[in-house]
Amino acid sequence: MSDTLLADANLRLEKALRDVTISQDAIERLTHPKASLSIAIPVRMDDGSLRVFPGYRVRYDDSRGPTKGGVRFHPNVSIDEVQSLAFWMTFKCAVLNLPFGGAKGGVTVNPKALSKLELERLSRGYVDAIADFIGTDVDILAPDVYTNAMIMGWMMDEYSIIRRQFSPGVVTGKPIAMGGSLGRETATAMGAFFVIQSVWAQQTRSPGETSIAIQGFGNAGAILADLLFHAGYKIVAVSDSQGGIYAKQGLDIPSVRHLKESSRKLKAVYCEDSVCSSVDHQVITNADLLALDVDILIPAALENQITAENADRIQANHIFEVANGPIASSADTTLEAKNIQVFPDILVNAGGVTVSYFEWVQNRSGFYWTLEDVNDRLQTKMVEETAKIQRSPKNSPSPSELPRMFTP
Ligand code: NAD
Repeated sequence: MSDTLLADANLRLEKALRDVTISQDAIERLTHPKASLSIAIPVRMDDGSLRVFPGYRVRYDDSRGPTKGGVRFHPNVSIDEVQSLAFWMTFKCAVLNLPFGGAKGGVTVNPKALSKLELERLSRGYVDAIADFIGTDVDILAPDVYTNAMIMGWMMDEYSIIRRQFSPGVVTGKPIAMGGSLGRETATAMGAFFVIQSVWAQQTRSPGETSIAIQGFGNAGAILADLLFHAGYKIVAVSDSQGGIYAKQGLDIPSVRHLKESSRKLKAVYCEDSVCSSVDHQVITNADLLALDVDILIPAALENQITAENADRIQANHIFEVANGPIASSADTTLEAKNIQVFPDILVNAGGVTVSYFEWVQNRSGFYWTLEDVNDRLQTKMVEETAKIQRSPKNSPSPSELPRMFTP
């Protein structure tokens, strides 16, 4: 890996550019973020003291439209991280042919150590500091790590107060009552599901004969596991930060989800009643899960899980990146040599930004869609763009050839 995350991202850009014809001017432009803002956000704490948190907003490129990207609240947030995430958002929006450029934002903070009121003051303070940098037709915010619909609601409200007008289009991922879109919560998993279905429709192996291991059982991983299970795939392993479970004959995902949600830990699934007694399974580590001999491996937890150190142990023939950046660039050569097909995060997890785009469109028109409309349009978009970027697009099924699924 290079010295900085942005330099590492640029290494991958250089490699991808070997396969396309693009002017030197455009390459030069894409190598640098258009604008990076560093701010200091003063927050009055509950005990009366004042603390100042560092924050950032980066607009990487706006040649395709207003920039779009999430806001992350995390202790490790740095300008380098925000710039590299804004870089990836630029390409994600382009891959999905959305009329957006890429952006990202963040605050260096441990949000778990703040009270709810402190979190609200921080969220509003962040928007106060970047208000001149963002806008419905300029730069649009969204949730990311440790930010959610409630925080997006505060941010949209603060921006509306500053502008003296209701401005729902400046933030996506809002609560439904404040102009959010139906289907946004499940969009990332649903989008990944459509990509997998679309790719797998060209394989001779049926879903029932296809084994899948999923690392990460949170919002994206657990909903995707459920969708794949109901479509007949054999989910043989899942894991969370505590470890994983493996059953060669396949796991009963609805039971695993139920137990995980009631206990908040996958660990509770290991040896308590239903799954434990009904399915013969093994407890495995996250390292074991990545190395399982499965047809499809889905990293849906954290970045840099597959690196030069463990790439040699990967046995799956297909990897669908649901997490952002789960494969370090240092692993690329080994995976290529092993002929493992990798479907990248900028396509596979782009369902989230696609439904964010739908939310922005609904906010601008003031006309709100049904859940069926949202999922139908998402399926069309994901299938079309998957087909376009595959090597043999003529072999891909059309959206109408795939089964429709409206609920996770
Ligand atoms: P989440 O916090 O809901 O879930 C993360 C899961 O990963 C949890 O089950 C957690 O226990 C597990 N995990 C944490 N550390 C782990 C470790 N060391 N090994 C194995 N598992 C571990 O997060 P999420 O929203 O599901 O996001 C997961 C990934 O998908 C992230 O990379 C995120 O950037 C990406 N993503 C999510 C969305 C979305 O809309 N949720 C959109 C695009 C990309």
